[in-house]
Amino acid sequence: MSGCHRIKFLKCVVPIMVKVTNVMETMVWQVMESILDQRPDMCRCENCRADMAAYALNRLSPHYAATKKGEVLIKTASLDGGMNVALMVALTEAMEIVKANPHHEKE
Ligand SMILES: [Zn+2]
Repeated sequence: MSGCHRIKFLKCVVPIMVKVTNVMETMVWQVMESILDQRPDMCRCENCRADMAAYALNRLSPHYAATKKGEVLIKTASLDGGMNVALMVALTEAMEIVKANPHHEKE
């Protein structure tokens, strides 16, 4: 953000096109899709996916970034390998929990 210095802090107006996003949330959904591709045993319904994402996100630290509206941030994933590993671990745990305690009857 050019021209936006500490001293002028109070005068900084956040442009309407920029918002703060939890990148971790975007990544959880993306990584979950790739893991589900290798887990035919897992239910893929909306409820179970939401449960898995919520569980994983509660285990992970949020990672906020300023993003332009509509812009998808995936770059962070390749920048921080450790974050990716933490994501995989949290999601794998989430899948075991959801599989053991599904919020609906098995079809
Ligand atoms: Zn389900």
